[in-house]
Amino acid sequence: MLKVSHLSSGYYKNNNIIDDVNFTIDNGEIGVLIGENGSGKTTIFKTILGFIKPKDGSILIDDLNLVNMSLNERAKNIAYVSQNIEMPPLSVYECVLLGRLPYYLLNPTKKDRKICNEVIKELNLEHLKDKNVLELSGGERQRVAIARAIAQEPKLLIFDEPTSNLDIVNEMLLHDVIIKIAKKKNLMILVSLHELNLAYDLGDKFIFVKDGNIVSCGNKETFNEENIKKTFNKECTIIDFEKTKIIKFRRDKNEKED
Ligand code: ADP
Repeated sequence: MLKVSHLSSGYYKNNNIIDDVNFTIDNGEIGVLIGENGSGKTTIFKTILGFIKPKDGSILIDDLNLVNMSLNERAKNIAYVSQNIEMPPLSVYECVLLGRLPYYLLNPTKKDRKICNEVIKELNLEHLKDKNVLELSGGERQRVAIARAIAQEPKLLIFDEPTSNLDIVNEMLLHDVIIKIAKKKNLMILVSLHELNLAYDLGDKFIFVKDGNIVSCGNKETFNEENIKKTFNKECTIIDFEKTKIIKFRRDKNEKED
């Protein structure tokens, strides 16, 4: 279980960007962070990842406090797929093998190579294994980044706006992959998304973030008009559609209709 308690952090002294953030994620659970641009979602991720030192609070994974952990040890517990995926000009296989770096000293072992081959198979990348990643499409490269993160064998996987550069088909495919790995590998997943209609389908838990604070946190029932309004300062209507929900924001009276 991931347990974030009373977490505060920021980039400068005496200026907290996130303040008293509390939430938990269970094994196999997908937690979706929802909030406006600049509300502090990435800062929460950076603090959990150890890129920023917290000013207060604790981050526990199965009772291990990440705050005092070395970056190498942390990499065995958490993997990160960032918004802008940058990769060296290597083959797909070599890129995935980079995920094993926290585990070996000089050269990858037989076990490291076996894990990479398994992950490549799981993510349907076998036919691209020897191809240079720079020659792949955005969706394929995204899958390589996820494969590299899974090869790291983390307990927690963090995705920051993973679909912002993808078309709708690839976005839905990526969500299917995320759900599959969370359930199959019993991984904890934290993801920030701006597309609310897809967020509802993906998440088991929703963490609504506003101005660095948590407005609400809970299961699908918390994905309601009240919490969305509090988070975005905008009225919305949620409509049941087949087994899912459609969120429609209402225009303010002074907003112009097209
Ligand atoms: P989100 O991910 O929700 O868009 P961020 O966590 O990126 O929000 O940003 C939250 C606030 O922190 C914003 O006001 C932003 O300007 C500020 N911020 C983000 N990164 C930095 C940085 N490297 N240095 C200083 N301020 C930053």
